[in-house]
Amino acid sequence: MASRRNDNKKPQSDRQNEQKDRPCLMCNKKFVSEHYGQRVCPTCKGTAAWRSGGEAA
Ligand SMILES: [Zn+2]
Repeated sequence: MASRRNDNKKPQSDRQNEQKDRPCLMCNKKFVSEHYGQRVCPTCKGTAAWRSGGEAA
């Protein structure tokens, strides 16, 4: 069996990909954040208005 280099990308931290239910910073609506840095729901993100709010991440 030829082994391919599949272990090139190891999951560095489980916490970074932790899915959590959290309220959106913009509309306070609960949504499933895909990672710890996601604090705005996709709907609000679509507006791109949050980007000018000063959130670095
Ligand atoms: Zn929102």
